[in-house]
Amino acid sequence: MIQAGPHPRPRLFEVTIRDVIPETADTVTLGFDALGELPPYRAGQFLSINPHQFKGLAAHLSFLEQLKGRREPVRAYSVASAPHEPLAITIKEDLFVPNESRHAPVLSPYLVFSSSVGMRLQVMGFSGRYVLPPEIEERADHLLHVVAGSGVVPNWSILKDSLRAHPALRHVFVYANKTWEDVIYRDALNALAAAHPDRIRLVHTLTRQADFTGLPAEVRRGRIDSGMLADVMPDPDRTLAYVCGPAIPPWARRAALEAGLPTQPRFLESTLGFLKELGFSPDRVKRESWG
Ligand SMILES: Cc1cc2nc3c(=O)[nH]c(=O)nc-3n(C[C@H](O)[C@H](O)[C@H](O)COP(=O)(O)OP(=O)(O)OC[C@H]3O[C@@H](n4cnc5c(N)ncnc54)[C@H](O)[C@@H]3O)c2cc1C
Repeated sequence: MIQAGPHPRPRLFEVTIRDVIPETADTVTLGFDALGELPPYRAGQFLSINPHQFKGLAAHLSFLEQLKGRREPVRAYSVASAPHEPLAITIKEDLFVPNESRHAPVLSPYLVFSSSVGMRLQVMGFSGRYVLPPEIEERADHLLHVVAGSGVVPNWSILKDSLRAHPALRHVFVYANKTWEDVIYRDALNALAAAHPDRIRLVHTLTRQADFTGLPAEVRRGRIDSGMLADVMPDPDRTLAYVCGPAIPPWARRAALEAGLPTQPRFLESTLGFLKELGFSPDRVKRESWG
């Protein structure tokens, strides 16, 4: 296991929204100003937001609580900023898929489409062990980031932080999206890689892009697979891999179990399998997912 080091207890604090930055058609970054002292956090951690604090969600929450027979829990959002930057999170709208989703998503559409500058909210932070171990430079020369969609968020924080905090560490950043328009932090990520060609190798891959005309030549086609990873990955004995993206949700796992059917691996499960195949020992792989 990659050991994360000691963690202070998360606590409730208030923020106001400083800016709302559209990233893609369904994703925004919210920049926050903390009212009072900001608790310390580490790159890769997350904060939690209780949906009950928003009056506009009251009816939706009551309906869901009646449907499910339990109180709706808080939602977690990875911190997009590195600790040396102003606090920010990035939210992607979750969709209602007819005949598949059990209910309409609650908090993400609200935060993506109804957030405004000056809005005040309570958040709980910070938590999570998806962080670099304190002895990272003894254990690795490289980080291999393998991320999909909004799974980029914690790795973006880790990448920016470690460029400053771990000057010897190099990064291979493999990022899968459906189309070029879906790439979160696209310009900032490309600019950062261009500014550090000796330290960052950025590999975009697109699974549903029809036309590649005008895209950078190195953008790849198709899902991440073991061939693609083998092509770009550094020595697995001197690399730590940080994998974040969609995984089989717990409810889908339960439903498959009840029906006696196998579950279809999603991005996270497939990637962990490829890394194993390619010689990564489990103590060199860290994962985060939001089902
Ligand atoms: C550690 C962590 C970090 C995260 N970081 C981020 C981040 O940086 N950015 C980000 O955008 N998100 C992040 N998430 C995800 C986030 O917490 C929310 O899960 C997401 O925003 C959806 O919340 P919601 O309230 O919109 O949807 P919810 O109301 O939670 O619904 C989610 C979906 O699940 C479906 N569903 C639930 N149960 C069933 C069922 N039994 N059968 C079928 N469908 C079902 C619903 O229909 C709905 O479509 C993170 C999650 C975790 C755990």
